[in-house]
Amino acid sequence: MTRQHDIAVIAGDGIGLEVVPAAIRCLDVVADRHGFDLAWREYPWGSSYFRQHGAMMPADALDQLGRNAAIFLGAVGDPEIPDTETLWGLLIPIRRRFHQYINLRPVRALPGVSSPVRGGGEMDLVIVRENVEGEYSEVGGRMYRGQPAEAAIQEAIFTRAGITRAAEFAARLASGRRGLVTSVTKSNGIVHTMPFWDEVVAETLAGHDGVRLEKILVDAMAAKLVLAPTAFDVIVASNLFGDILSDLAGAIAGSIGVAPSANLNPERTHPSMFEPVHGSAPDIAGQGIANPVGQMWAGAMMLEHLGETAAAAELVTAFETVLDYGVRTRDLGGTAGTSDFTEAVERHLPSLP
Ligand code: ATP
Ligand code: MG
Repeated sequence: MTRQHDIAVIAGDGIGLEVVPAAIRCLDVVADRHGFDLAWREYPWGSSYFRQHGAMMPADALDQLGRNAAIFLGAVGDPEIPDTETLWGLLIPIRRRFHQYINLRPVRALPGVSSPVRGGGEMDLVIVRENVEGEYSEVGGRMYRGQPAEAAIQEAIFTRAGITRAAEFAARLASGRRGLVTSVTKSNGIVHTMPFWDEVVAETLAGHDGVRLEKILVDAMAAKLVLAPTAFDVIVASNLFGDILSDLAGAIAGSIGVAPSANLNPERTHPSMFEPVHGSAPDIAGQGIANPVGQMWAGAMMLEHLGETAAAAELVTAFETVLDYGVRTRDLGGTAGTSDFTEAVERHLPSLP
């Protein structure tokens, strides 16, 4: 019996519908080379579904997704549908139901991708973003609408358990890398939650010999990422700060089209979700020019999470080599279309040892 992994596929909208099939083709080739099967189960949810049904996905969507080993997501979003629908109607319910409390974003310069920043070409870091609590909460409300005293309150929620598990994950990751965890807060301005974060992270890291902890304020961090992008190994941050810093780091690395992310349930009691950092890119959708690397790299992270480490590494080597040969999509200054690039990766894979 060959090993089989059941994968839920939500290609979603825009270029998601182009880069997901491209990545699947390459993933199938590596799976075949390594003697396992990927059973793709497609769920046609997202903005088109929303137009017909008034929801991004059906009522029993989470039950359906839960029967799979992982979720492979393209992009959901549409210029005519508010972002809050995509976020609260699909992404956040999935992250929360499946306890995907870590958002993992490796940021590394790839061959042929030029950084707008000095030293950006040598950066190699991973951002661990707390993914289910923190600043993105429903607690709060609006008061005195339309009156002079009108106000809005938004509460951030941080729990000891939530901070501990994010810090723990970051520490383990760092111990397999260069041993440095940089924890980002704003403890001078935000006086309850952020000092609590600092305290719990320090306690957690104290249990990890050989891992150094560095604390930095988020404003200083934004500057330092630009001025010294190679100074970091593992960055751990709250939901909001992690979100902002991953876009910044991704931009420094060179292109939004190549960056992957994983929404992880590290205990593997529920499926994790893998997606590129970019969105549906309506400006280039349907033209066959989208860069499929972010989706392929997300696919490699998925293989790694499923225990298919060798296959994962091979896929990364394949797209890096093809980039190095000079086959590049337009966002990287090349002329290749999505399918040219994908075929080049498929052709290269069999030549790997
Ligand atoms: P969404 O609302 O789904 O987040 P968006 O347009 O706000 O979509 P992105 O989809 O991330 O945000 O696009 C930002 C810019 O980057 C766009 O100009 C888009 O064309 C470009 N871009 C994003 N992904 C890719 C890709 N894979 N290949 C080439 N260009 C891309
Ligand atoms: Mg967007």
